[in-house]
Amino acid sequence: METEIAVVGRSNVGKSTLINALTNRKNLAHTSKTPGRTQLLNLFVMDQDPPTRAIMDLPGYGFAKGASKKAQASWGRMIETYLLEREALVMVMVLIDGRHGPTPLDVTMLNWLRSHGIPHTIVATKHDKVKSSMRQKRKRELAEGCDLEVGDILWVSAATNVNIDQLRGLTRQWLEAT
Ligand code: GDP
Repeated sequence: METEIAVVGRSNVGKSTLINALTNRKNLAHTSKTPGRTQLLNLFVMDQDPPTRAIMDLPGYGFAKGASKKAQASWGRMIETYLLEREALVMVMVLIDGRHGPTPLDVTMLNWLRSHGIPHTIVATKHDKVKSSMRQKRKRELAEGCDLEVGDILWVSAATNVNIDQLRGLTRQWLEAT
């Protein structure tokens, strides 16, 4: 059976960097200096012969900011249709910026996933950017903002390799669970 994990998050959350770290590839998910430049769906195939497991990089939510209302609406419809109808989808990884998330858009996304019963896991990015003296407090705030417990959220840093192996292991489990 085909299985797929989707990765969502606002622009600049560190999505491309994390996907590169998880897939052990450099510069494949293209990281952009201009927030929100990745507008296409990028599929990373994780195995071959036959290719059945993949990670789908969905466009960051912030991308549509400067776009017309029409472009924003069609972007939203594309993401919604994908998340609601993709049969291979086994998990949505919701990336939240560890420095200041969740933002209202992150909460909207979470509530939407909850309301549709779509399996999801929250990953807080840029662990290295939060001062160690502030980490406990930040972890509590981020969890509370998501209406969850601290232990429900996996904190990672692609820059310093915090919990990347653990997340890669989870990714493998999700993709192989069925
Ligand atoms: P995307 O727009 O979500 O795909 O975000 P990118 O992967 O392009 O990253 C946005 C910015 O955050 C880039 O300047 C990255 O170098 C930086 N970044 C990503 N992950 C980390 C991290 O774990 N730690 C730090 N310090 N910076 C990161």
